[in-house]
Amino acid sequence: MKNEHVAFGIDIGGTNTKIGLFDKSGNLLLSHTLPTDKTVSPEQFIEHLAQESQRLLSVDLKIELGDSRILGLGAGAPVANYYTGRIEHAPNLGWTNVALRDLFQQKFKCLAVIENDANLAAIGENRWGAGKDLKDFILITLGTGVGTGLILDGKLYRGNNALGAEGGHIIIPNDKKRLCSCGGMNHLESFLSAKGIKQTIQELTGEEWKIEKLGTLFREKDLKATTIINTIAEELATGLVSIGVLFGPQAFVIGGGVSKLGDSFNQVVKKKMDELIHFSLKGKINIVTASLSSEKGAIYGGAAHIFDEVLK
Ligand SMILES: [Zn+2]
Repeated sequence: MKNEHVAFGIDIGGTNTKIGLFDKSGNLLLSHTLPTDKTVSPEQFIEHLAQESQRLLSVDLKIELGDSRILGLGAGAPVANYYTGRIEHAPNLGWTNVALRDLFQQKFKCLAVIENDANLAAIGENRWGAGKDLKDFILITLGTGVGTGLILDGKLYRGNNALGAEGGHIIIPNDKKRLCSCGGMNHLESFLSAKGIKQTIQELTGEEWKIEKLGTLFREKDLKATTIINTIAEELATGLVSIGVLFGPQAFVIGGGVSKLGDSFNQVVKKKMDELIHFSLKGKINIVTASLSSEKGAIYGGAAHIFDEVLK
């Protein structure tokens, strides 16, 4: 490896964990995905991640963990707290009171920061992606869950004790009654998570569709697909209106699996949002698709976070 700085980005998800090593320009030098093993302790799992990373480093770049060119590691995980460096309780992982930042620093022998995954994805888009030229935007990941990351005045906003900016759990007025994974009722996540969208499709058609099929048929102007898109776009737009009037962002950046629906979906959401939003904001907020990988956005953000922290 040349004499350049690199950083790790890691995303611990409920099913899989992704590891990437990046240079300062956001080039992905190494990457690996492995199952999140919930049968072992968090300490054993992070040790396993370090061993896997060491193996990749030795084979591909001929360097060791602890090398001074590795500036650090930024990791995303559900409800990871940047300020305390801990995960208090993550039901998806079965982890309680884990000193995750310390574990990473010990096992990877470098500086580490942790964040919730949507925050990291927002940092990544801000440095290298669709939010590169924006100073006020909100990243919204529509995947297994719904997460939001707020970049306000060019900086990530976390709220008190890193517990803010959870736009997936704002309440959406709707005649349906949908229980959210958090136990709340009619939260944005109960409609726009993968499970929520699946339920909506089932209610409207009695069938099971994948996002790709929905996208293709919608572009072909299929009637059923159009009805589904109009329904989920309206539910999303209702949530974006509430978030939009609070922060007045330049754009919403859509990430996660639903971003595969692309610009034709964004335009429907924007039209609905403009119908519902306060007159002063009509036409003023763009909706764009995240430009970093829909699966790997958070690992880019992890590395970007380190370059921002260390080189600032
Ligand atoms: Zn909720």
